[in-house]
Amino acid sequence: MRGLDARNQRTTVTLVVREQVDLRPYNSFALAVRARWFAELTTDEQAIEALNISQTLDRPIRVLGGGSNVLLTSDLEALVLHVRTQGIRILSDDGAQVILEAEAGELWQDVVQYSLQQGLSGLENLSLIPGTAGAAPVQNIGAYGVELRDVCAGLTALDCYSGQLKDFTPEDCAFAYRDSRFKREAGRWLVLRVRFCLSRYAPLHLEYGLIRQRLHEQGCTEPTAAAVSAVVCAIRQEKLPDPKILGNAGSFFKNPVISEQQAQSLRAAYPNLVAYPQAHGQVKLAAAWLIDQAGWKGFREGDAGVHRLQALVLVNYGQATGAQILDLARRIQEDVVERFGVLLEMEPVLF
Ligand SMILES: Cc1cc2nc3c(=O)[nH]c(=O)nc-3n(C[C@H](O)[C@H](O)[C@H](O)COP(=O)(O)OP(=O)(O)OC[C@H]3O[C@@H](n4cnc5c(N)ncnc54)[C@H](O)[C@@H]3O)c2cc1C
Repeated sequence: MRGLDARNQRTTVTLVVREQVDLRPYNSFALAVRARWFAELTTDEQAIEALNISQTLDRPIRVLGGGSNVLLTSDLEALVLHVRTQGIRILSDDGAQVILEAEAGELWQDVVQYSLQQGLSGLENLSLIPGTAGAAPVQNIGAYGVELRDVCAGLTALDCYSGQLKDFTPEDCAFAYRDSRFKREAGRWLVLRVRFCLSRYAPLHLEYGLIRQRLHEQGCTEPTAAAVSAVVCAIRQEKLPDPKILGNAGSFFKNPVISEQQAQSLRAAYPNLVAYPQAHGQVKLAAAWLIDQAGWKGFREGDAGVHRLQALVLVNYGQATGAQILDLARRIQEDVVERFGVLLEMEPVLF
């Protein structure tokens, strides 16, 4: 093994549990919610210790990475574990394919940067997604035509029910569109480290969004993974609101997948319907288009609103509560069902 392993200190340090901690700095919506108990996790041993503490307190554990995909709706009577474990390392390298492993608390963008510095491709389209490596498999993060499942080589997680460590193959993770068994079995698994299968030679994914066009404009005829990453970062910075300036959790709704038959009747009523054919005769609709058509883009009530340029992004203009954001989300859902007969599923996890 080599890499940044020295950063992953395995010394036993007792978990420091604080009480009544304001979670505002720990969630990208900047919602002012309190954790009854809160601890920063820096080693595997502390994870076991946290299980014991949660049993003694008779309260559940809630895992928080970067807090960029959660909606905190009320104070948490739980032991909130903020995952801060560090370390990125290369496990194997046959000259073409490389297995890279990252501790759960590493910032996702640091993992992407590390892989690019090693001359590896695979993560470049996922550049600049906020949050941590450990959360990446939870909702099978995806962007610009690539999903985590395309590059995931497995992971190690702690079973919070039994206290046992378990290695997962990619198949075990049951990845689906913005979903995995870790999202479905919420509260059970604490992801400790994630492995990625990356490549020195695999072809790049340029077909999605504006990537190819931007590279062409730059006169880049033989793009590298680093060049693709730079383009993706630039596009994302232009398009998405920065949570440091305006609280948000990125896309609030998933793009709904419907049958071709339902899509055809919607097309008859709405010739401009934005829809993408999928496998097995299904069709993916652009949730942003549905929300925009329903007139919600730019809507604001108090400090809860829909971004004025990105209909998929709900925002906190300052003092909104999680309950207000949730109420707005539910109103949008109801309206979209009434108009189009399509249910929009929320993407963030509700705490
Ligand atoms: C501006 C913006 C843009 C975004 N763009 C994208 C995008 O393009 N594509 C995309 O897929 N997502 C996107 N997201 C959503 C978010 O960045 C991802 O879902 C990210 O993986 C969340 O990481 P996190 O560490 O912040 O997770 P958190 O929000 O802390 O947690 C999310 C869920 O994962 C669980 N979790 C976190 N860490 C662990 C762990 N170690 N073990 C077990 N469970 C854990 C939590 O309990 C929670 O249920 C965006 C968000 C924002 C704010």
